[in-house]
Amino acid sequence: MHSQAAGSEYGGVTPEEWADFEEHFDKRKVELGNCARPYGSPCQHEHACIRCPMLQVNPRMLSRLAEIEKDLMLRRKRAEEERWLGEIEGIDMTLTFIRGKQAEVARLNSRSPVALGFPTPRPHRE
Ligand code: SF4
Repeated sequence: MHSQAAGSEYGGVTPEEWADFEEHFDKRKVELGNCARPYGSPCQHEHACIRCPMLQVNPRMLSRLAEIEKDLMLRRKRAEEERWLGEIEGIDMTLTFIRGKQAEVARLNSRSPVALGFPTPRPHRE
């Protein structure tokens, strides 16, 4: 038996809960775009966003991504000269993630919008 109205079962949201909720979305803004981790969950990847599947790159930040890629290529060249093999491996992995993010943005940008058409009123039934 339910004597309470549905709304009162859930109770109200306290100002602290609401502030916490808003803070979560503020914290999801990262340099390259948005973090898509679920509400209430902490960053599991030590803020290594480029390597993280939760990062949604903002297309406006593609030039920044290209800068990071260029910098990594220079670091890779130096690592090759110095024979820092572990460093090369790490850089190559990060470059793979960067290129994956670039491809993802390109794929999303190339999709054409779906035409849903205009709604029309249904014939009146008696
Ligand atoms: S590393 Fe991943 S989960 Fe953490 S802030 Fe960056 S995008 Fe979000």
